[in-house]
Amino acid sequence: MDAKDLLFYLPLTVFIGLSVFFLLLWRLGLASSWHWSVGFLQTGLGFALSTFPVEPRFDQLASGILFIGAAYCYGSALMIHFGVDRAALVRRCLALSFLAPHIYFIFIDPNLRLVLFVIEMVFSSLLAIAVFKVVGRSKNTADRFLIFASFLAVLDSLVRGVVFTFIFPTGEAMSEFVESAYNLSVHVTTLTICLLFPFSAITALALKSVDKHRLAAARDPMTGLLNRRGFEMAVEQLAKSGKCAGAVVVADIDHFKAINDARGHDVGDQVIIDMALRLKQMAGENTLLTRFGGEEFVILLPGASEADAKHWAETMRKSLKDTSITRLHGQSFTASFGVSEVADLKHDVLTAIGRADEALYLAKRNGRDRVECATTVRERSVDSRAQVTSFA
Ligand code: GH3
Ligand code: MG
Ligand code: MG
Repeated sequence: MDAKDLLFYLPLTVFIGLSVFFLLLWRLGLASSWHWSVGFLQTGLGFALSTFPVEPRFDQLASGILFIGAAYCYGSALMIHFGVDRAALVRRCLALSFLAPHIYFIFIDPNLRLVLFVIEMVFSSLLAIAVFKVVGRSKNTADRFLIFASFLAVLDSLVRGVVFTFIFPTGEAMSEFVESAYNLSVHVTTLTICLLFPFSAITALALKSVDKHRLAAARDPMTGLLNRRGFEMAVEQLAKSGKCAGAVVVADIDHFKAINDARGHDVGDQVIIDMALRLKQMAGENTLLTRFGGEEFVILLPGASEADAKHWAETMRKSLKDTSITRLHGQSFTASFGVSEVADLKHDVLTAIGRADEALYLAKRNGRDRVECATTVRERSVDSRAQVTSFA
């Protein structure tokens, strides 16, 4: 095998290998991997036809369809990765409309140069739509690199289409195609610029997967709210972004054991989910909602005073009391709330939760379905100390 043979076999091997690799990633639950895998498989098969020609017209027809199919899949993969609308109708129409000139220049008025031109133009347009839709959506350097590599693939296809049609036209016969400068340029640019494309996709996917697992580790799976670890991480982020103070609310469902005992654990779970939903409905943009454990929730309201937080908790308390729940046979459930100010988000959150917890116990002692504040607890303890001193 000489160097030229290697150049022709390499893209075929690399793309089939990439397809298998992305298929394995798909089995790990990364949604866009499937589309990358099918895209690379089609590209690999397209290269197989130019490496092992079968019959000229069949080769042209099949490789054209494979490359356009690949561009469609790459576009879908990019848009899934960045979570944008896939513009499926426009892209499908474009991919299907390619068939008319493709068939025309193969079977009716044979012209290899125009066959290649149409493939390159439709390939670059399909990918360009996706690049246009995802640009500005990057979350990290790997994402930005993936967009840049995709843009290079668009440019590569566009430039080759124009250069080999209008500046250095390709020969007309398919028999010359395998040895043509055009085919050589496809292989060379594929092994240089275009390999950036799959490898940047692998890096972006790997980072996304790490992020996905980090986010999952920070959330409570039953309610989707933050867990204790996620809360601590989010508070750290808030403090870094310059938010210095606020208030915490600790909420605990009243007589929850009785709900579990009377209606069963499943209904108990539904009540917890319902409480989380109501918290989500009442949350502002920066509010942190946390399931701290069992049926206990911690809510951080950045920038709020104790009075603001008390008002927020009162609204929540009334909404719970006033809403009947089908799973509780039309009854409602109640919760008690403790509120405390947080003077310094960076250093005071845990002690503020401790103060809000004391206020929560005061609410429970005072009959439940109540909101109490840390300042009330403090004032009462000062009063009781003053009484002890005056008796002494
Ligand atoms: P209080 O009004 O004083 O808060 O009374 P309570 O019955 O709510 O008492 P407590 O807060 O101690 O009860 C917590 C119960 O919540 C105990 C535990 O069995 C139950 N629990 C904890 N986690 C879950 C859960 O994920 N699902 C269900 N269904 N029950 C849970
Ligand atoms: Mg409780
Ligand atoms: Mg509890």
